Amino acid sequence: MRKHRPLPGPFPAAFDPPMRRFLLILGLCIGTAAGLAHAQEEPAAGTGVLPEVALSQLSEEDNSLLGREALAVRPGDWKHAETPHFILHFFHNFVAAQAAAELEFYYHAESEELHRDTSAWERKSHVYIFENEADWHLFQGKAQLDPWSGGIHSGGNLFIIRNPAFKFEGRSLGHETAHLVLYRFFGAAIPLWLNEGYAENASMRFYSGLEKRRGYMMPPRVAALTASNYIPLANLTSAAAYPDDVIQVSIFYQESEKLVAFLRAQSPEGFVAFLDAISHGSQMDTALEKGFGSRFTGLDALDREFAGYAQRRYQPLAGN
Ligand SMILES: [Zn+2]
Repeated sequence: MRKHRPLPGPFPAAFDPPMRRFLLILGLCIGTAAGLAHAQEEPAAGTGVLPEVALSQLSEEDNSLLGREALAVRPGDWKHAETPHFILHFFHNFVAAQAAAELEFYYHAESEELHRDTSAWERKSHVYIFENEADWHLFQGKAQLDPWSGGIHSGGNLFIIRNPAFKFEGRSLGHETAHLVLYRFFGAAIPLWLNEGYAENASMRFYSGLEKRRGYMMPPRVAALTASNYIPLANLTSAAAYPDDVIQVSIFYQESEKLVAFLRAQSPEGFVAFLDAISHGSQMDTALEKGFGSRFTGLDALDREFAGYAQRRYQPLAGN
């Protein structure tokens, strides 16, 4: 007996017809894929899942060092397929088909709210999908893992693990896709807090639209943000590296996400202008002025106002 799996909708009406068609096909594939998982590796032929392409026939090669390291893990077992914006490397078609639907959903949603025209960016991103922790750890030793999400964004490519038992899987694809969108359309000069803060914030918002109905759990919070562990904004916004221990990493991600939520609540459009300014070299005070006019008189004023919000339990704000 095959279980029916709901489509990963709702898809925004703004999707163009080819994208809607693609997602609809994938949605149908996902229903089949869930059945495949039950049927213990039933052959994919004829089930309408992602059409597979030989490595040598892909529209673009990935010459990155990490890409080569990934394909060096069990080199004979990788399969390949393409979607409108991604080239996927994977071991099982049904795993890739589900990931592809989510990737295209997040890519569209995140680039659209940041007002970026994705049609101008023709190159595709490579996505490497690992399926077990042994393979992942073999690869992970060669790359710096994003300490919160369990995925890696590197130079416009993603390296992820899709394993139902992996505890941070839920919205990690939305998180890593946000890094990819920021990298593509705003460049590599985004401060760490803003990169992680937006990735957390966007993945939380779009995750609830896409995946909550599937019953995934949100990642656990390791520690609550309080007055005693609050990071002054002068320190948060100038951090160039992740904190050393897991508690501090958790606080860093939470506070960064809340700061993005707080700024977006002032004005979603202002937040995009702020992001644009800061990714093109503005200091915080200047970027705040470009995004929000005279709303804040500088980073110190923002800090005084934000600290109270940051230490409350999470509450979505208007515009969030
Ligand atoms: Zn991240």
